[in-house]
Amino acid sequence: MSGKSRAEWQAAAKALKIDGRAFIDGRRTAALSGESRPSINPANGQRLVDVASCGPEDADRAVVSARAVFERGTWSRMAPGDRKKVLIRWAELIGTHAEELALLETLDVGKPINDTSKVDVPSAIRTIQWSGEAVDKIYAEIAPTSPDCLALVQRLPLGVVAAIVPWNFPLSTTAWKLAPALATGNSVILKPASNTPLTALRIADLATEAGLPDGVLQVLPGPGGRLGQHIALHSDIDGLTFTGSTPVGKQLLVFAGQSNLKRTFLELGGKSPNIVFADANLDKAATMAAAAVFYNCGQTCTAGTRLIVERSIEAQFTEMVIARAGHWLPGDPLDPATAMGPMIDEGQFRSVAEYVDIGRAEHAELVFGGGQVLAESGGYYHEPTIFAKTNNQMRIAQEEIFGPVLSVMTFTDAADAIRIANDSIYGLAGAVWSRNINTAHKVADAVRVGTMGINNYFGGDMTVPFGGFKQSGNGRDKSIHAFHDYTELKTTWIEFE
Ligand code: NAP
Repeated sequence: MSGKSRAEWQAAAKALKIDGRAFIDGRRTAALSGESRPSINPANGQRLVDVASCGPEDADRAVVSARAVFERGTWSRMAPGDRKKVLIRWAELIGTHAEELALLETLDVGKPINDTSKVDVPSAIRTIQWSGEAVDKIYAEIAPTSPDCLALVQRLPLGVVAAIVPWNFPLSTTAWKLAPALATGNSVILKPASNTPLTALRIADLATEAGLPDGVLQVLPGPGGRLGQHIALHSDIDGLTFTGSTPVGKQLLVFAGQSNLKRTFLELGGKSPNIVFADANLDKAATMAAAAVFYNCGQTCTAGTRLIVERSIEAQFTEMVIARAGHWLPGDPLDPATAMGPMIDEGQFRSVAEYVDIGRAEHAELVFGGGQVLAESGGYYHEPTIFAKTNNQMRIAQEEIFGPVLSVMTFTDAADAIRIANDSIYGLAGAVWSRNINTAHKVADAVRVGTMGINNYFGGDMTVPFGGFKQSGNGRDKSIHAFHDYTELKTTWIEFE
């Protein structure tokens, strides 16, 4: 991707043509009700485009066409090698449109252009390419039966799958859902978050251009409470894959039970522990401790929001993290030098500000940030914020703030670190830093999370599964394990005469 300057990205943003219509049955269309809502640029509060606001009636027509194409077998029974060609072509087209997609994501989410160009778009390409490459390398099983019969165990697509995704990583999360669901032959209806639908809509256009048959992928922007709930209660949708908050995830399980028991897979919230022993490479650990919580403005499910430090280095290590917080002061997301952009919207900003007040009231010590900056921009920019002298009972240490707020607390020994790390309703991710591999592995093994880093944070790629323990969810995105969420096991038992 080119090394454009801020002025060049601003010019590209002005010239960008954005289509906010829904994508149903292979083409762009308005909501049946004619309703739309403005999509707002979080960097300046200005309207980018009006986006179709779909309702239950749009979902119903999308399900009819998704079901019809599934039954026809155009995609669901296509040879895996042919599905692979379409997915790889799709990934290539996303690559051809990489700058446009990075810009769209930055404008829609407020993410720094440096991140959308180097992380979000490449990650979506890799996800689709990897899933496409994998699909014709998966074999079915023959069970170890007696010789007078033959038992085949196959994985078949679920049918019509709905995907509901959040606003914090719209493009990557969408790719994590679509790639395995489509690779395994399902028809998919995607509901993006209301405030960040633009890249999902655009890559749907590119999917058609790549040869995906009409009706196999549909993208319906619309409100979670109305459209999302209707989808979750729909009795002709066979599977539901969700990334979002824990309270909404719990509701979706209820909806699945109230309707047709659709397979429901959830990727939910987190309150991740980042454990630092005194013998760690403290320079690297401090740099990554700041990145772990401030990346994407802390609006990251895996954010390392609980920094659990060995007591002997508390003062020294807290100073080291404070020294690195300045790198994360927010700025214009179209400036390639910006590391942190604005919060997604005023509501999220207010919620973070409330948690800063709660931290103060709980007598945590505010040692960096804590307030708004760049208020004149029209966007909601929050300073990177650090609370020292916290403990794990405080609300700021237990509740998901989903903003750039770090709680620093201490431990006495490995058992204490493990106890604190596991004292959470969440179990999504975490990390431990130590030069002693025995200590590091013992701690990593005992912390109940889906992904644990040793001497790194945010480790992982398409080869490994991603998802949570406890109230962080029950599904797995990425890797071949994700294919299991989108397939049913089917046994065929043949007896010979
Ligand atoms: P959210 O409020 O749960 O919304 C997520 C999606 O669900 C949105 O598309 C939303 O639509 C929709 N929705 C809301 N209420 C619904 C309902 N009653 N029925 C059906 N759908 C409904 O979460 P968020 O605030 O967008 O995202 C932040 C959360 O996502 C955090 O908790 C974060 O940890 C989690 N997350 C988890 C992962 C992971 O992989 N574990 C990754 C990223 C984020 P609207 O946009 O219209 O409200």
